[in-house]
Amino acid sequence: MDVRGAKVTDFPKGMTRGSLRTLMQLRTGACKRLGGELHGAPVDCYRCEETGVLGRAGTAVEHMFACASSAADRKVHFPDSSSPEPDLLWVLPKASVAYAETFWKTAPHVVQRAPRNTAMA
Ligand SMILES: [Zn+2]
Repeated sequence: MDVRGAKVTDFPKGMTRGSLRTLMQLRTGACKRLGGELHGAPVDCYRCEETGVLGRAGTAVEHMFACASSAADRKVHFPDSSSPEPDLLWVLPKASVAYAETFWKTAPHVVQRAPRNTAMA
């Protein structure tokens, strides 16, 4: 697939604001929900536990498309692609966002944030 010339702001119609925000973050390579969004502080993958693979400059997104723990999910979201890669963020943006959400929502080691306790106020 050739996505040269595609702009980071080429958005498909019919996506929710939240999905568009996620898509923009993934395309620019700094997505807090995916992880590794802080400069100079790559983190381990919370799915496959590979060391320091979630980082900025697109390394987290590249890993998301290559993570060994998610091969079955990639087949579900990209049935026509034998080896899905980050350029699918431009070619199949809706499927890419759905895959990303599956990636972090079904992660086995995600630490859930505790809900804010307002009863103590
Ligand atoms: Zn991984």
